[in-house]
Amino acid sequence: MAILQTTALTKSFGGLTAVRDVSIAVAEREVHAIIGPNGAGKSTMVNLLTGQIPPTSGKVTFEGRDITGLRPDRISKIGIGRSFQRTNVFPTFTCLENCWLAAQSRMRHSFRFFRRAERYASCGERAERALELCGLTHRRDTAAADMSYGEQRQLEIGMMLATEPRFLVLDEPMAGMGKEESGKVVALLRDLARSYPLVLVEHDMDAVFSIADTLTVMVNGTVIASGPLDEVRDSTAVQEAYLGD
Ligand code: ADP
Ligand code: MG
Repeated sequence: MAILQTTALTKSFGGLTAVRDVSIAVAEREVHAIIGPNGAGKSTMVNLLTGQIPPTSGKVTFEGRDITGLRPDRISKIGIGRSFQRTNVFPTFTCLENCWLAAQSRMRHSFRFFRRAERYASCGERAERALELCGLTHRRDTAAADMSYGEQRQLEIGMMLATEPRFLVLDEPMAGMGKEESGKVVALLRDLARSYPLVLVEHDMDAVFSIADTLTVMVNGTVIASGPLDEVRDSTAVQEAYLGD
C-alpha cells in the first residue's frame, strides 16, 4: 500500500503549468526518484508534497490521510521531513545547535505537556541522535560556517532527521558537490533508505540509479515515464529527457 500518494496534482503559476496531472505512489521502504531537466517541475513537486505551496488542483495523501493544502509546519509534524535545494543551515551555530533548533521547531503537540526541562533534554537527545545518523558527531561543536559545503548539506539532512520524520523528501541533496562529497551523501542516503521511504529529486544519474527503486521522469511539468527503475532507466523517455540537457 502507498504511504504517500498524489492524485492528478497540478500547479499553475499564472499561465505556466509547472506540474500537470502528476499521480505518483510511494510505498513503505521505497526510494522514489524524480528526475528531469531544469524547469521540469521537480522542486515544485517537492513544494507541493511538503506544503510550501498549495496545489491548483489534485490531492496529496499521507498514510491514507488527505494532507492537501496543509501548511509546512503541519506536514512536518505529521511526519514528512524535507531538505531544500539550497543550503538552509544557520552559519554561526554549531552542528549540534542547528539540529537542536530543528528538533525544537518541529516538536509534536504532545511535547506541550512535558515540563520545560524534559522538553529541553528531549530536544538534546534528538539532536545528538540526528548528528549520529547523518555522520557528523565528530563535528558536533563546529560552527556550520567552518565546514565544507558538502558537510553543510550533510548537516541539513541531520536537521531534517532531528524532526523525527517518518518519510523524507530531498531536493537535490548532492547539488554543487564534488565526487568525494557526493559519494558520502550517496552512502548516507543508502543508509537512510533502510529506515525511511523517500522521494529523491536528483540530477546525478549515477546516484539515482544506485539508490532508487522507482523512477519518475518529468519534462515541462508532465510525467513522461514512471515505474520500476529497471524498466524506466533504459527507456527512450529518459534518453530524450536528457538529450541536450
Ligand atoms: P525544477 O526543480 O525541475 O528545475 P521547478 O519546479 O523549480 O523546476 O520549476 C518549474 C517551472 O515553474 C519553471 O518554469 C519555473 O520557472 C516555474 N516556477 C517555479 N516556481 C515558481 C513560482 N513561485 N512562480 C512562478 N513560476 C515558478
Ligand atoms: Mg529544482
